[in-house]
Amino acid sequence: EETILSPEPKAITVRELCFAYGGQAPVLDSLSLQVAPGERLGIIGHNGCGKTTLFLLLCGLLKPSAGTIELWGSPLQPGKFLPEVGLLFQNPTDQLFATSVWDDIAFGPQNMGLSAETVAQRVTQAAQLTGVTALLERLPHHLSGGEKQMVAIAGLLAMAPKIFFCDEPTASLDIRARRQLINFLGQFQETLLISSHDLEFVLEVCDRVIVIDQGQIVADGGAEEIMGNQTLMVSHGLEKPYSLR
Ligand code: ADP
Repeated sequence: EETILSPEPKAITVRELCFAYGGQAPVLDSLSLQVAPGERLGIIGHNGCGKTTLFLLLCGLLKPSAGTIELWGSPLQPGKFLPEVGLLFQNPTDQLFATSVWDDIAFGPQNMGLSAETVAQRVTQAAQLTGVTALLERLPHHLSGGEKQMVAIAGLLAMAPKIFFCDEPTASLDIRARRQLINFLGQFQETLLISSHDLEFVLEVCDRVIVIDQGQIVADGGAEEIMGNQTLMVSHGLEKPYSLR
């Protein structure tokens, strides 16, 4: 809990969060979680355990059935656009729609009402950070999976997010693009939440890991400590990553 000696609010505070898709069994069942600013949190769990659902709730794209979510100490208002929160979807193609990479990256900052000059600066910076400068005039549709992923990330970075959610970010990447993403995320300074089946990737990028099963957090700790525990991993439908064997 916060004291007078540590007045900085948590980046994310979730209290007893519950969610069910219309009439179905609950996906999340009284889940509580705190994430400190700048923390790099991996979220793992078997298929369908609710990782994507949790991200959609934390971004305000779904409304909790019960419980509360605070970002930086303020209650989250579902449905309200939050430029400070970036969500990278599983399929980067879902995120790209403009007729040039430049326009795609510019879309977010333009909608934030920034001046044309600031928008151009943000596009240039985000493109440099993600290594897509050479692609700016290209048609997003014609890019490779890895290139699309980096352009989608650039579009989110251009909004200067303070919390970055990545849902299965390596799913469509080859080895080279995956390595590029690891390098990029290694330099990213803001709060980062990653859901992934790619446990080696989680191990490289995240400091802390939570395991979700049956709608709750069943383990929470250091990435190596959690993922190196074969008994724990297997009991929740996971496997110890190869590099920890
Ligand atoms: P994960 O990301 O961990 O694979 P999801 O959050 O996608 O899990 O899904 C959690 C559960 O909710 C699964 O059982 C899934 O089938 C169900 N689910 C996901 N989206 C919907 C939806 N739009 N309507 C109904 N059920 C859904």
